[in-house]
Amino acid sequence: MNNANRKKRKSQRKQKQLLNLLLLTAVFFCLVLGILLILRRTRAPETEIIQETIPETETETLPETESETIPETTEEEILPPGMVSGMTLSFYHIHLHESDDSVMPLVFMQPEDALDLSEIWASSDEAVASVDESGNITPESPGNCIIWVTSAMNPDVFAEVSVTVYPDDEELPDPEQLCSGFSEEDTTRNDIQVIGGITYVQGVMLVNKTYPLPSSYYPDGLTPETKEAFSELRHAASEEAGLRLFSDSDFRSYRTQVYLYESYCKRDGKEAADRFSARPGHSEHQTGMVIDVNWAGDAFNDTEEAVWLEQNCWRFGFIVRFPREKEEFTGYKYESWHIRYVGTEWAKKIYDSGLCLEEYFHVSSRYS
Ligand SMILES: [Zn+2]
Repeated sequence: MNNANRKKRKSQRKQKQLLNLLLLTAVFFCLVLGILLILRRTRAPETEIIQETIPETETETLPETESETIPETTEEEILPPGMVSGMTLSFYHIHLHESDDSVMPLVFMQPEDALDLSEIWASSDEAVASVDESGNITPESPGNCIIWVTSAMNPDVFAEVSVTVYPDDEELPDPEQLCSGFSEEDTTRNDIQVIGGITYVQGVMLVNKTYPLPSSYYPDGLTPETKEAFSELRHAASEEAGLRLFSDSDFRSYRTQVYLYESYCKRDGKEAADRFSARPGHSEHQTGMVIDVNWAGDAFNDTEEAVWLEQNCWRFGFIVRFPREKEEFTGYKYESWHIRYVGTEWAKKIYDSGLCLEEYFHVSSRYS
């Protein structure tokens, strides 16, 4: 091979190498660009989820329905520090008899350390329901109206409560009929109704640290549905597993709870008592839909009976109301013995979700 040929081949080889290098660099950049794009795409919903979940985990707020949300612009606007940026209420719908006592929704302003947390209240129709400066809503005469609450500091932040007042001789509506029927997957919204002082979320009676029962609520024992479901549960435990389950305690009146809570406070102090005993009006035992099974105490945890109960009670419409590691949501430490009747449909959904009731319905449990 002559010299000129060799040189030519050499330069051709060099050109080829250069071309390969260029190609490789181009492929590398494409890859990097691709990865960056993928990252951006996967990150976007993540931030959305974080924004959505913050309100219910960190604060005791209730996710609002569209009409109740804070105008979206407030999120994008850059607010001066200390300015109120959002607001949620403990309920958005209330049904009252005309002679009922006044009721006040709890207001949660965001951020909690805003400089001025005061509210301005107004009624769309004072003849139907009036509202005072603290937010006490008083029924006046049958009809519908809206109660507005606005942040005194930032008038862009407001919420509405729809009020329906019924004549005293008319029955209050059935809570289940009032559910607006969210899709089963959509648990990011709730539908809280207060009917005659009792709170319902999607038709399920709700009693916890945020939502009390009126002191006058007195079903005088277990509700018939709860009684029947518990008897079926006991039968199944005995037949299927040879276990003996029985009620250690079930219905407790408001008055009994006053006595119990006060004696726990005296014995253990208020802070400790709040972790295992409810304040009067806040005890689920007052619903007549709760049973403490066999032994209301930590000694019941992890027994064969407790394990069976945890795995099977949903079949009969019950849920273990204060599951393990859910204290931040329920407000109570683990209680393997305390089961609550919610009906078979809800019990299955809640059990399958692995969530506690507060998480499932996006509601809070915190004393105000
Ligand atoms: Zn209990």
